Amino acid sequence: MIKQKYDRVYNFSAGPSILPLEVLEQVKEDLLNYKGTGQSVMEMSHRSKEYQKIIDEAEADMRELMNIPDNYKVLFLQGGGTLQFAMVPLNLMVGSKKADYIITGNWAKKAYEEAEKFGDARIVASSKDDTYSWVPKVKKEDFRADADYAYICLNNTIYGTKFNYIPDTGDVPLVADWSSGWMSEEIDVSKFGILWGGAQKNVAPAGMSIVVIREDLIGKAPANVPTYLNYKIHADKGSMYNTPPCWTIYVAGEVFKYLKRIGGIKVMQEMNERKAAKLYAAIDASEMFKGTVAVEDRSLMNVTFVTGDADLDKKFIAEAREQGLINLAGHRSVGGMRASIYNAMPEEGVDALIEFMQKFEAENK
Ligand SMILES: *Cc1c(COP(=O)(O)O)cnc(C)c1O
Repeated sequence: MIKQKYDRVYNFSAGPSILPLEVLEQVKEDLLNYKGTGQSVMEMSHRSKEYQKIIDEAEADMRELMNIPDNYKVLFLQGGGTLQFAMVPLNLMVGSKKADYIITGNWAKKAYEEAEKFGDARIVASSKDDTYSWVPKVKKEDFRADADYAYICLNNTIYGTKFNYIPDTGDVPLVADWSSGWMSEEIDVSKFGILWGGAQKNVAPAGMSIVVIREDLIGKAPANVPTYLNYKIHADKGSMYNTPPCWTIYVAGEVFKYLKRIGGIKVMQEMNERKAAKLYAAIDASEMFKGTVAVEDRSLMNVTFVTGDADLDKKFIAEAREQGLINLAGHRSVGGMRASIYNAMPEEGVDALIEFMQKFEAENK
């Protein structure tokens, strides 16, 4: 068993997932009495000036970290990633009622199926026939010029692929799901109409999605769209139309402060690239373990691999668990192994996993 502070394990869960230890320590310190207010953030009125400061700082820090242009709003919403699959078409599929989707995995597929309920959703490209093991390369001409929006999932949490380019959609606004990539690498927000993602992969505990939306896309929803599902109400009310996910926003804010302390997303990206390169190199050097996706489309965050023998995979996952390397099973729809190495996974965690893989390979030749 690998020994860590507080007897913690290395948690490779895809989500909810690992948070930076120093953030957890700060949260623990704040828990009973947040900065002399005599109360925890969990108990605080969201209309108090103390809470207003928390949400304002979280937004300001996120804007600074991601260099979000002034003509974008940042919304902190409930309903998880899944609600955005519906909110996007409800708010944007309002002109030609056409939307073009690239299907690179379950999450993109679910988003597409939701959009089909509201208009003419079309699949531009899909890698479904190859178990989503690669990311299609598309050109501007592949999209309908009169579509209300185009949609992609930037990092495919389940399959372990990511877009290593941003598709050119011309004047059609590009909507992207960045749930499992938030803050893991630099990204040019101005290329997107909406960049949104659930918080529980890289940013905070579960219970929130963050939507970064260009202002001209707000206010298009028809009158019959339920109040809570209209981006405009949240934009007008500063994510405080109703009680927001107060605690999750607070923890996200602490994560943003941590990212600023270490030097911002560029520094985080370098660490992530180093961790991923090591792990992929170990997989490529092994005779037992094989990566499951096209090398050029490999995710920086979710590393998927197999032995080729389902029983051996199970044995690996079980023995790794005993060593304090937990949640290495692949998604229930694909099997094999998946190591999610989000921002908060320390390099020592990746080193420990590689060492264990080598030991396991030697013992099970
Ligand atoms: C986890 C995930 C979702 C779904 O998030 P929920 O909050 O569980 O609804 C959507 N998209 C991607 C890429 C994800 O990784």
